[in-house]
Amino acid sequence: MSSTPHRPSVAPAQLSWWFQDALQAETGQAAPTPLAGELTVDVVIVGGGFTGLWTALVLKEQQPDLNIALLEAALCGSGASGSNGGKVHGYWASLQGMSESIGEDAALAVARAGTRAQDAIRAFATAPGRDVWWREAGNLRISTAPAQDQKIAGYTSAARRLGVADTAIALTPEQVASRCRSPVFRGGVWFPEGANVHPARLARALRVAALEAGVAVFENTPMLGLDRGAPNRVRTPNGQIIARDVVLATNVGLAGEPEVKAHVSVFSSFALMTQPAPELLRQMGWPGDEGIADLRMFLHYFRKTVDGRVLMGSGSGPISYGGDAADPSLTQDPASVARAERGLRRLLPALAQVAVDKAWGGAIDISADRLPFFRTIPGTRVHYGCGYSGHGVNPTYVGAQCLAALVLGRKNEWSTLPLCTRALPSFPPDPFRTYGARAIRWGFISCEEAEEQEQSGPLLARALASLPRLLGMRIGTR
Ligand SMILES: Cc1cc2nc3c(=O)[nH]c(=O)nc-3n(C[C@H](O)[C@H](O)[C@H](O)COP(=O)(O)OP(=O)(O)OC[C@H]3O[C@@H](n4cnc5c(N)ncnc54)[C@H](O)[C@@H]3O)c2cc1C
Repeated sequence: MSSTPHRPSVAPAQLSWWFQDALQAETGQAAPTPLAGELTVDVVIVGGGFTGLWTALVLKEQQPDLNIALLEAALCGSGASGSNGGKVHGYWASLQGMSESIGEDAALAVARAGTRAQDAIRAFATAPGRDVWWREAGNLRISTAPAQDQKIAGYTSAARRLGVADTAIALTPEQVASRCRSPVFRGGVWFPEGANVHPARLARALRVAALEAGVAVFENTPMLGLDRGAPNRVRTPNGQIIARDVVLATNVGLAGEPEVKAHVSVFSSFALMTQPAPELLRQMGWPGDEGIADLRMFLHYFRKTVDGRVLMGSGSGPISYGGDAADPSLTQDPASVARAERGLRRLLPALAQVAVDKAWGGAIDISADRLPFFRTIPGTRVHYGCGYSGHGVNPTYVGAQCLAALVLGRKNEWSTLPLCTRALPSFPPDPFRTYGARAIRWGFISCEEAEEQEQSGPLLARALASLPRLLGMRIGTR
């Protein structure tokens, strides 16, 4: 890799390219309103990302007379929901790992819930008048080094064993090349369920839909404190909300809560957006709109945009100490941006000369089995959901249905999912958790980078990278 940049060509920015684009595209929409004074509602939702906004909409759909307020510390969509890769897919690519951690029947139930979510998101995204760049061409995982080849059979054999062979289809190197051509691509696996979206425009469209449905949306309104009780009281800088039910949809903001702390670690993911290069994309041979990722643990994920840009991400960002969601390295790590850029230049060398427009990073909430969980704090009417583990665009809709069922006290196909009922595995306590995870991350990244050069990683790196398997843990990002 002689062209390896040691420094990224752009520094990580505060706002994602997506979020800035979405705000620029908005015309005539309701200005953000902060809360002033006291309000009493049936349900208050804290957090205006996909989880909070979908939950508000699902609740309104199921019980239109419900009085709902939603509080967002900044602007709706300004968190992970407006800055991710915009790759939308459920759980068919996770069958193998889920079968090991929650059992085969439970794995199938979660994957089928993901398909229901995909249908609902598609229906919302493609409704007349919405321009959220929904493109559906499946989800592709590609081997980019001999060491990744063996993983392909794992996906397809899990799907075959569970009787859903058509959800994961092995591709030869030639078949991969017909979808996206690169000198480093080898074989791959194609999951028909998968789409790309403009995540920030989707989040902002959900905000509009929530307002239209009668949800009282308060932006620039952080929750400063929650007094649990009957009713609950949510305190904000200039007011408070009294509510029977509270839904905490604050993503990594939940990682410090006593109920969550043992089960969630805060990692980070970094992405960049190139300038438009539609002609180069056509010449290199990437005609479709697949969402693509390599088969590393700390993977590269990439996709095109409708204006011919490429987003390239690297799920290899720093890990904060003790689940500290405010750690600046989660959003400001030039080394992680450089890894994403190295991925761009290695995986898509046809774009070698295309400049990077913007790069940014964001925190991700990794759970010990890499599945989200939705719960009610025992003895209260406070509900919460997190643990998406870097895979939340589709699963936040599943989460919204689960949280709505918890709020309404309904036992249904969502609230009986293992996402609401399984015993949650824990991480070891700190400092072992953080230092252990950092050492394992270093081991994985060192090995995976060496494997791309067809070398094996240093002995210490290999030993560290094998630890999660030896301890029966599933870590990393996807
Ligand atoms: C760089 C990156 C790339 C990713 N790529 C993908 C991908 O391609 N596909 C995929 O499926 N997933 C991806 N993810 C993960 C996905 O974005 C998240 O899992 C998902 O958006 C989580 O949604 P959320 O609503 O739970 O959280 P968020 O969108 O973070 O929303 C939480 C909101 O709560 C607000 N908040 C926090 N504290 C308070 C408070 N005290 N008071 C009021 N409001 C508060 C925040 O401001 C925030 O807006 C990626 C994540 C990152 C960071």
